Amino acid sequence: MLEGKLLIGGKWLSCERKFESLNPATGEVIGRACLAGNKEVTDAVEAARFAQESWKKTDLSERARIFIRIGDEILKRKQKLKTLITLEMGRPLFESEIEVLKTSEMVKYFANEGKTFLEGDAIPISPDTFSFTRLEPVGVVGVIKPWNYPLLLPFWAIAPALIAGNTVVLKPSDLTPFVGIEIGKICQDAGVPEGVINIVTGDGITGECLVRSDIDMVSFTGSSETGKNIMKSSAEKLHRISLELGGSDAFIVFKDADIEEAINGAVWGRFMNCGQVCVSPKRIFVEDGIADSFIEGFVNKTRSLVIGKGLEPGTDIGPMVSMEQREKLELQVEDAVRKGAVIECGGKIPLSLQDGYYYEPTVLTGVNHEMRVMNEEVFGPVAVISVFENMDEAIALANGTVYGLGSSVWTKNLDTAMRMSSHLECGMVWVNEICTLHPQCPWGGIKHSGMGKDLSRYGIREFVSIKHVNINLGNEKTRPWWFPYGRG
Ligand code: NAD
Repeated sequence: MLEGKLLIGGKWLSCERKFESLNPATGEVIGRACLAGNKEVTDAVEAARFAQESWKKTDLSERARIFIRIGDEILKRKQKLKTLITLEMGRPLFESEIEVLKTSEMVKYFANEGKTFLEGDAIPISPDTFSFTRLEPVGVVGVIKPWNYPLLLPFWAIAPALIAGNTVVLKPSDLTPFVGIEIGKICQDAGVPEGVINIVTGDGITGECLVRSDIDMVSFTGSSETGKNIMKSSAEKLHRISLELGGSDAFIVFKDADIEEAINGAVWGRFMNCGQVCVSPKRIFVEDGIADSFIEGFVNKTRSLVIGKGLEPGTDIGPMVSMEQREKLELQVEDAVRKGAVIECGGKIPLSLQDGYYYEPTVLTGVNHEMRVMNEEVFGPVAVISVFENMDEAIALANGTVYGLGSSVWTKNLDTAMRMSSHLECGMVWVNEICTLHPQCPWGGIKHSGMGKDLSRYGIREFVSIKHVNINLGNEKTRPWWFPYGRG
């Protein structure tokens, strides 16, 4: 049984109230972590504030060196990290390993490129006037993250924030507190100074305490609903905020696409991580004429997927993360069926896997935008497929949602690809590709999917204030536009 503590000012401290982390594959308790309240959050923010004074003065090359070591520490602990991720949130070990490798790659990317990204600009004005910009840290950043990529997503914020000279208080998800705690140990072992990273485990109320505390910025990834609450609370203090929220991405297949490739991409995109991915293709649209063969191929491939424990070799799909998430999914499917959707396969809890929070990979057809599965985010292994007649209809259907995270388009026609990428209302468009992630490419949505960018040169800019400095090197005693007016 694991016992979790809080990391505050470089020390691991216990607190009175605890909560349990469960293994979603069995429902068994993995460990007990601290449930931080207002006092612990305030202490962590104070420690971060104190540490920021010296951290922001640390040479950028030293900050970068620490992050190269963090990247190495992550790789050294690959086995332990992937096992812990799978234990706490259920997904197959193979997928957890990819998360570990991607985290190390991204951390090193910011370590290597940070110096260039944080360069200011020299701005020519006149021979006697010199302007330039300085990119300064924002201060103390509250980092609040979800459970679905419990190692990668915290580091998406921690790496650029710390390299830019901020300090951090991290609130990991209440479903994956022990991965969050491991982040603190990795940072300590790599030489991050005391107080530069602090970790407060806890629930939504802990997150709320952090948002209302004396921080300067919130970097949030999670549901759109929580994002809106955070925005409201942040308005009180005018914190800077970056919000990466939910999505209901469209996956649009034109007649001229490679159908086999599109089916393989759609099945993987929709069911990896048990369908619990922000950019998973949650609404699939197929052009009339190929719909029957696409649906047949998609259903056959879905039926071949192996459900089981994430720790067991050969598993394609693990359990959902919690009973609550599964119950929400069941209600969404029930609503669709009541309104006329057809279950092509799946649609129930597997008989052989009654312990844990499993749900069969499911395909629904005959869906429309009156159904919850089409107008809410579906965060589980349910694919919904509908048919379109032409490009205009595909665009209207794809944009017919409050979300605007990503989309993918499947076509061999460059003109179609370019027109779709221009008309789709979202932050990312993949063409003949799905859900790829590169540290050098910006990540983030529009509409109810959030604001701000992660990753790339744009991602690190979220964590700096741009100061403009204007220096007059001339000798004039006055200016033509100064007082007195009209007498010169
Ligand atoms: P969630 O909103 O329930 O929780 C996210 C985090 O916020 C958790 O740490 C939680 O404890 C905390 N929290 C909850 N209520 C809070 C409050 N009132 N104030 C402050 N913090 C609070 O989301 P989740 O279920 O953990 O994650 C799934 C969601 O995340 C999905 O909607 C998914 O699409 C989204 N997501 C988005 C991206 C992206 O890049 N856009 C990436 C991953 C996940």
